Amino acid sequence: MRDNIPCQYCGGNPLRMTGAEMFPDRPEIAVKRFLACRDCDAWVGCRAGTWTPVGELADVTLRMARRRAHDAFEAVWRAAAGQTAATDDHARRCAYAWIAAHVKGGAHVAGLGLKECGDMIGLCGARNAVPAVVARIRSRPSATPVRNGRKI
Ligand SMILES: [Zn+2]
Repeated sequence: MRDNIPCQYCGGNPLRMTGAEMFPDRPEIAVKRFLACRDCDAWVGCRAGTWTPVGELADVTLRMARRRAHDAFEAVWRAAAGQTAATDDHARRCAYAWIAAHVKGGAHVAGLGLKECGDMIGLCGARNAVPAVVARIRSRPSATPVRNGRKI
């Protein structure tokens, strides 16, 4: 099937494709949905169970920027979790809230444009990034119970 949003890179018509069609070697995402421009290899994921894209189509440059933004973000919340007793989930949630206050759409890396990816990478690379997330974690203790010193 064709979608009616033209590819912003080449003007082509993105196709509706499943994960099984896009990434046959990744069965864990077989049921995910994508819009993909086969003319220029730009694509974007869709919201679960819909053909609504999470953002604009991404070419290889934007996909790499999103990957770098994701990795920079993960490094921040993992470091913050390591400095507190927070679970990974709680640290990630606090970091999402922190980034969302600074980067438009920052809570959803898959939907970010190049500029927002750059903003996020810069923010996550700043010296105050981890302390900011640590402060947020400490001001919002997790409801996750801890038993015998282990997160459960
Ligand atoms: Zn295209």
